[in-house]
Amino acid sequence: MSELNIILTGFMGTGKTSVGREVAARLGRRFVDLDDLIVARAGKPIPQIFAEDGEPAFRALEAAVCQELRTPAGLVIATGGGAVLDPANREALAAGGVLICLDATPATIVARLAGKDGRPLLAGQELSQRVVALLNQRAPAYAAIPHHVDTSQLSIAAVAERVLAIAAGLPPDGYRLVIHPGGSRSVGDPGSAPSSGPMATGQAPAYDVLIADGLLRQAGQHLTRAGLRPGRCAVVTNPTVAGLYASTLQAALEEASFEPLLFEVPDGEVYKTLGTAADLYERFAAARLARGEPVVALGGGVIGDLAGFVAATWLRGVPFVQVPTSLLAMVDASVGGKVAVDLPQGKNLVGAFHQPAVVLIDPQVLSTLPAAEYRAGLAEVVKAALIGDPALFEQLAGDGPASLAALIADAVRVKARIVERDPYEMGERAWLNLGHTFGHALELLSGFSLRHGEAVALGLVAAAELSARLAYCDHTLPARVRSVVARLGLPLRWPCDPEQAYAAMAGDKKRRGRTLRFVLLRRIGAVELVEGVPEAAVMAAWRTICQA
Ligand code: NAD
Ligand code: MG
Repeated sequence: MSELNIILTGFMGTGKTSVGREVAARLGRRFVDLDDLIVARAGKPIPQIFAEDGEPAFRALEAAVCQELRTPAGLVIATGGGAVLDPANREALAAGGVLICLDATPATIVARLAGKDGRPLLAGQELSQRVVALLNQRAPAYAAIPHHVDTSQLSIAAVAERVLAIAAGLPPDGYRLVIHPGGSRSVGDPGSAPSSGPMATGQAPAYDVLIADGLLRQAGQHLTRAGLRPGRCAVVTNPTVAGLYASTLQAALEEASFEPLLFEVPDGEVYKTLGTAADLYERFAAARLARGEPVVALGGGVIGDLAGFVAATWLRGVPFVQVPTSLLAMVDASVGGKVAVDLPQGKNLVGAFHQPAVVLIDPQVLSTLPAAEYRAGLAEVVKAALIGDPALFEQLAGDGPASLAALIADAVRVKARIVERDPYEMGERAWLNLGHTFGHALELLSGFSLRHGEAVALGLVAAAELSARLAYCDHTLPARVRSVVARLGLPLRWPCDPEQAYAAMAGDKKRRGRTLRFVLLRRIGAVELVEGVPEAAVMAAWRTICQA
């Protein structure tokens, strides 16, 4: 039997077709417009059907096509706004799949329709009255549809992720991002070839990042949906996180017939080592963990990196699941497939690319995250906004996002798009280092008393200053970055000697044998990798943050 259809309906201007195309592209499924099926069946265009046969004939054809769609065919379908007014059509479409109604406020609909035709304002007012009247008339039919997504405040990508979440049975208001590690096939670049890298033999399959409140309690079913066979699995975590969430996760896994074995390692970056990895190998061996039995990382970025490294190497690689519990791990470390341990000589020096089978993000677990850790994670959210999501930046500067899930989805989307295009860090992935050249130097200078996120926040301010000084962006941009960083409770200044900071950074640069190379801001939402940045400008940028 084919997979269930995903059927989008709703009023005009709610984005059914654009969202449908995006959903189909993410899933690699076929998109069809119900009207096109009717045209194919009639053998003539819709205006001609109306003119020659009349509206009742059109509605009869529409009803017949809906009845055919009772049989699931793995399609993504957008219907005309009127198709679901007939209860029999609604019933037939819902029988073959998941029927979802897209909504929008009248003002949004009018703006979208007016935008399309370039209607003058006066006609717009008239339009607004017609929209409201028609919406009221159709309200009962739309209300009879069980699933709804309000599209008013969301981008097409975000609506598509909400639709995908509903179709995957996620808790309400969830997001499902489908990541294609070997290169994306999203709308707009249908022909883009998968990117290749030194290790790009055998493309990793697409995987889901699922984001929803309460998702932890559904973990088992989503592992099964990701293709993991029920049976034994290793849950790697630390005592802090285990005390809070291990029993919930274990119960959820057992509910789906998994048999979780718990492996705790001590909490802290100092334990992200080969020694701890070796300890886990020994315990895995004692438990006779076999190939195919997945490793589940439950914790922050330290646990994700360590458990992922062990999953990449144990028996030459076993399936890996990320259940990130810190904001930083949710928006950054758990996506992209980089896993590593530290050496005394430096962070993340031994590692691999090992893509997860699925990433499960339950924003509710952030309620127990220490505030300072939460703020540190927000620095990477600001970075994501600066790199690729101006609307997210405006939300951070204004009333905040609609929900934590929405904030996380926005940030993950920015990273996901970049790692899809550059899975092995050959180019664009360098953008994710915005603010990090400054940040790493500060972490080093502080003897790691500054959190990574705090150092990144300072680095973002410095990068904005540098960009403005070199006239890459508007001179008002640094102030806007400062204001968001400050309002999130992150530092704008740190007492140190700018000369020393520069030296710490240059040392880092020399090791790579490059000229001064920075990710600079063109504007909010657009960055560029720039070589040969003049020393004087970099020093000037340092001086703006190196003060008590
Ligand atoms: P972390 O894992 O040390 O977590 C911070 C602290 O919060 C820890 O004490 C942890 O036990 C605790 N914690 C986590 N979730 C909690 C919760 N829900 N409630 C209460 N306490 C909780 O640090 P981090 O900031 O999450 O991750 C940093 C690590 O991530 C670094 O090692 C870094 O190298 C790595 N990282 C990796 C990537 C990548 O692409 N692989 C990207 C960025 C960062
Ligand atoms: Mg970082």
